[in-house]
Amino acid sequence: MDARPNSPEARDIRYHMHGYTNARKHQETGPLVIEKGDGVYVEDIAGNRYIEAMAGLWSVAVGFSEKRLVEAATRQMSKLPFYHDFGSKAHSPLIDLAEKLVQMAPVPMSKAYFTNSGSEANDTAIKMIWYRSNALGQPARKKIISRKRGYHGVTIASASLTGLPNNHLSFDLPIANILHTSSTPHHWREAQPGESEEQFSARLADELEKLILAEGPETIAAFIGEPIMGAGGVIVPPAGYWEKIQAVLSKYGMLLVADEVICGFGRTGEMFGSQTFGIKPDIMVLSKQISSSYLPISALLINDKVFEPIADESDRIGTFGHGFTGGGHPVAAAVALENIKVIEERDLVGNARKVGAHLQARLRKLASHPLVGEVRGVGLIAAVELVADKATKVPWGKPAALGALVNGFLQQNGVISRNMGDAIAFCPPLIITEAQIDALVDAFERSLDAAL
Ligand code: PLP
Repeated sequence: MDARPNSPEARDIRYHMHGYTNARKHQETGPLVIEKGDGVYVEDIAGNRYIEAMAGLWSVAVGFSEKRLVEAATRQMSKLPFYHDFGSKAHSPLIDLAEKLVQMAPVPMSKAYFTNSGSEANDTAIKMIWYRSNALGQPARKKIISRKRGYHGVTIASASLTGLPNNHLSFDLPIANILHTSSTPHHWREAQPGESEEQFSARLADELEKLILAEGPETIAAFIGEPIMGAGGVIVPPAGYWEKIQAVLSKYGMLLVADEVICGFGRTGEMFGSQTFGIKPDIMVLSKQISSSYLPISALLINDKVFEPIADESDRIGTFGHGFTGGGHPVAAAVALENIKVIEERDLVGNARKVGAHLQARLRKLASHPLVGEVRGVGLIAAVELVADKATKVPWGKPAALGALVNGFLQQNGVISRNMGDAIAFCPPLIITEAQIDALVDAFERSLDAAL
């Protein structure tokens, strides 16, 4: 770190409060200041180059230097830098994007609704679900079931959906009407001895049904889940999980929200995680890779079961009283459209499948390493969970201490990753090559050995 009093690091400490950090400790440790990006690489202000193995925040599908997105933004910025979709207003990039998303959806969807972030989109999903229950004359049907370790954002309502302690502690969350399952679909960590993946899935579906019955089915409106849990530790659902969960939801007439904010647009080797796991959602929540996060934009896709009652209610009351000034911003929409074109034209979904298989195979070879408890993942998303003792699966000293240590070594070895507790996540740009995966995993091996 540059110790000069007016260095960028010193000014960051003086003026900038970060998200997701220990704000006190940051005053001593300071930032890693990233200056530029090129393909799968980013470079810091000291000129050190890193493979960005998290694609930023699970988001930069097309890499950090895609000129077509820059040109799309410039063109739209010159033509119409801002407009909105309140009331009867519309603009072409948004109409084009809505059409494209509805046509791309893996299950019949009726409409796209635009917001700025994953959190806002999930907040909007909750409001749409509540509005719909009122429209249907079922005002008691307001509870939404989310999952332990699920991640759905940080606004008051979406943080309530999130099932991680740090998003609730000292924020007085969750709010009313948001319930969490008591289990996470993580077979390695939570299955009982001898329980197969199918049996574990059946037990979780049974637990869900018991929760619904205990609360009263007439009070439950929806279930929300990520096809693969991301920020909760890249938890890949066990065999049969989504099929069995969906059977319970159908039995009680509950809506299903698929939070595709990480899985959407190719991450799992299919365009959507819902395709990978046979999920048939009523609402899909999209963000991040929709625009490779070059600009913030998010969207909800809703089917007729959701749209029609909302339309009736807005007609009765006079308006659907919800919308964001920047929701569906024309420049962000133009960037998203171009980004989706790049993903399709370069077959980045196929690349995620092919190069993803190489990533998964190389990581699985590390399963015998003394610090590796579990290797998990699909396509270009993976995690390696570190343990002190492979048999008991106990973490090493303080939880997250080993993960943070290995993550630090990874950075010294030229790879930016992220540890979620003792799980090290990998979620690189979808343009990554096999040779770059080899460099990444080689650096990871060196980092693991350094921690021995
Ligand atoms: N949903 C999922 C699955 C996410 O991973 C995230 C962010 O990581 C969000 C929602 C929240 O998105 P945002 O940070 O854009 O509010």
